[in-house]
Amino acid sequence: MPKITFYNTLTRNDDVFTPMDAEHVKIYACGPTVYDRPHIGNARSAVIYDVLVRFLRHVYPQVTYARNITDVDDKINAAAKERGIAIHDLTREITGYFHADMDALNVARPDIEPRATEHIGEMVGMIKTLIEKGHAYAADGHALFAVASDPHYGCLSRRNRDELIAGARVEVAPYKKDPMDFVLWKPSAADEPGWESPWGRGRPGWHIECSAMSVKYLGDTFDIHGGGADLMFPHHENEIAQTTCATGGDFAKYWVHNGFLTINGEKMSKSLGNFTTVKDLLDKGVKGEVIRLALLSTHYRKPLDWNDKAIEDAEKTLNKFYRAIDGAEIGDVPEVFLNALGNDINVPEAIAQLHSAKPAELRAMGLLLGFFGKTTAEWFKGDVASDDDDIGLKIAERILAKKNKDWAASDRIRDELKAAGIVLEDKPDGTTDWRRA
Ligand code: AMP
Ligand code: ZN
Repeated sequence: MPKITFYNTLTRNDDVFTPMDAEHVKIYACGPTVYDRPHIGNARSAVIYDVLVRFLRHVYPQVTYARNITDVDDKINAAAKERGIAIHDLTREITGYFHADMDALNVARPDIEPRATEHIGEMVGMIKTLIEKGHAYAADGHALFAVASDPHYGCLSRRNRDELIAGARVEVAPYKKDPMDFVLWKPSAADEPGWESPWGRGRPGWHIECSAMSVKYLGDTFDIHGGGADLMFPHHENEIAQTTCATGGDFAKYWVHNGFLTINGEKMSKSLGNFTTVKDLLDKGVKGEVIRLALLSTHYRKPLDWNDKAIEDAEKTLNKFYRAIDGAEIGDVPEVFLNALGNDINVPEAIAQLHSAKPAELRAMGLLLGFFGKTTAEWFKGDVASDDDDIGLKIAERILAKKNKDWAASDRIRDELKAAGIVLEDKPDGTTDWRRA
């Protein structure tokens, strides 16, 4: 097993990764707010955690990955109003786009993808517990977290009180006992989405969503929590406060934060208007795997400045790799490659191994990183992946899983294909044929 260390934002240290249960690793990452089509900054975050999960799956027998969908948010309300459509129609549409765009980048779907609007009961339950334990209070149709009640508050961002107040850009509101207190629940106007609660008709604040859903699916304490560096404060700080105060558990042991994708040194974001969507690039004919490789070309904690050259370089590299793997078997994944990934997910160092590898090993390493979803012929034809390509990729992933004695993954892939009407026939020489049932 490779040595695994992560730079843990909680300790500001490269910590050796020791899962709570070596048989079953649990990871949560903050997912999209579904009000607009994902841009490549959002995609960077999704691709990074996808690689982390693929690596963990290779090393550990079982990994559960949860990533939420924020489908209640003021930006969503505003976007639906502007387009004159119902909120649930907007969130359904954008969730579909998010899935389609991430599928195009070979980002595997998480095991659990909870939607906020389907977990209001869990959030209300957690807020009630916080009030009972003296960590929150109700005021004027709101429920607020009492920051002063949590001696550990600030443990992640390591800000002092003045910095916390400045950083939270807190509104002085008459119902707050302390300007640092943050909203757990707020009232909804008649034309805004709302649910009945002990504090009146309203909707949850954003932070409580991730606390309630991660605890529900992964437990009071779990292994890894990820997200963009912009989420460290206040979002993750508040998640920690809410969860540890409500459950008494430790919440996540390892906090992993990815750096920004930037344009001319500035964070790509919807609000700055400097964004390129994944769909824009796909429509221009840039292949999904090219975007994926370009997004992985810089270490995940560093900023990645996006430009056309990143795309050109990634395309050249993938052309070279695809030429090399034509007809290749799936070999073993070399130790040096796994050690590079174990070294705080150093993907650029891992990719460096691909350049000097023999074809069979190249194919194995590329598959592990979520590449080689097509045959060499398909790649150079530049066709959009056909259904058969997807089946080929799944079969290749299953062969890799079997080599890795990851029987759970191998069975899961077989079952997924079976559910899609594809029957696999393993042959004595180690290859697999398939047919439609
Ligand atoms: P949002 O939909 O804005 O809530 O963002 C979804 C995810 O994408 C979060 O984990 C953000 O931290 C991440 N994200 C947003 N913009 C960028 C960016 N420019 N670079 C890297 N990650 C980003
Ligand atoms: Zn979150």
